[in-house]
Amino acid sequence: MIVTRLEEIEEKICAACKRANRKREEVTLIAVSKTKPVPLLQEVYDCNIRHFGENKVQELTDKYPQLPDDIKWHLIGHLQRNKIKYIIDKVHLIHSVDSIRLAKAIHDEATKRGVKVDILLEVNVAEEESKFGFKLEEMDTVIEEISKMTALRVKGFMTIAPYVENPEENRNVFASLRKLSVDIGRKNIDNVSVDILSMGMTNDFEVAIEEGATMVRVGTAIFGERDYAKL
Ligand SMILES: *Cc1c(COP(=O)(O)O)cnc(C)c1O
Repeated sequence: MIVTRLEEIEEKICAACKRANRKREEVTLIAVSKTKPVPLLQEVYDCNIRHFGENKVQELTDKYPQLPDDIKWHLIGHLQRNKIKYIIDKVHLIHSVDSIRLAKAIHDEATKRGVKVDILLEVNVAEEESKFGFKLEEMDTVIEEISKMTALRVKGFMTIAPYVENPEENRNVFASLRKLSVDIGRKNIDNVSVDILSMGMTNDFEVAIEEGATMVRVGTAIFGERDYAKL
């Protein structure tokens, strides 16, 4: 069943790339596995998916040793500063850097360990009260601050678009993040690259790809509905 779902998603990704005149290789599918048990992740892994996204530190560190070590783990949920130490050596990319204080804390931990950490800056494009993330208009200042943190490598931006019935309603959200990335890229700031745009989930990943997403974070369409009560 998971195989079939993955095939359907793959077709949709290919079609969206084609519509936007983009190459399929430009888009990485991240399987968002929060609340899902390890055997299901293994099933997805066996279909050749190597990128997995979790939004809780505890869940990521629980699953981490139970799965193959060539998995690239993405932390996509809000990160508390006191938990950085548990994941810093396990994650491939932190998508959810949503404050300067958090960035500084990651920088400090990375410096202590002599490592570099790849991060995305989370932008609350639609300025929803319920969501974390920087505002678009503060990004110039934010980037200036964070680019001084030499143990961090800014790789691009992430956004969680609002929940909407019709994914077309999010097109301008994705276009705004893409515009930010182009604007910042033009400045050629040390330590800052804008290669990654993490945007698009089950409901809207096709529109996100049309608007330039390089990583889509898909949970429900791969694993089925989540049952939070089971946790
Ligand atoms: C849960 C989650 C997703 C996946 O959502 P689906 O709608 O199930 O595809 C993507 N990004 C983040 C940050 C999430 O927390």
